[in-house]
Amino acid sequence: MNIALIAHDTKKELMVQFCIAYCGILSRHSLCATGTTGKLVSEATGLNIQRFLSGSHGGDQQISARIACNEIDLLLFFRDPLTVKPHEPNEANLLRLCDVHNIPVATNIATAEVLIHGLERGDLDWRNIVNPKNA
Ligand code: PGA
Repeated sequence: MNIALIAHDTKKELMVQFCIAYCGILSRHSLCATGTTGKLVSEATGLNIQRFLSGSHGGDQQISARIACNEIDLLLFFRDPLTVKPHEPNEANLLRLCDVHNIPVATNIATAEVLIHGLERGDLDWRNIVNPKNA
């Protein structure tokens, strides 16, 4: 499966801890991330992560483009709901595209835990039918 990771600044440490905890599961999938999130997670875990631009420079839009092509199977997007970001409209579009393509998306760690366990259990295997490039 292709998994995309994005974390706002106040949630980056949480994302790193999450990825350390689930490193074993994540290592069996293809990972991509916005620039800084990908750098921090790969440094902390050794996971191989395709890094896009920083979110503020369009990395979230690069991930949106992959979602638009139905090339992402799971999005873990740890948002900071308390700080307004200049690229917030792009992020709204990112979430909209997940709904367009029925892509499982977690915007906080509680949902991410559920999804990662579901992924491990095979609950998301239907994505291999929608996105046969995974198989
Ligand atoms: P970053 O982007 O991982 O490059 O910081 C995420 C964000 O939009 O904050």
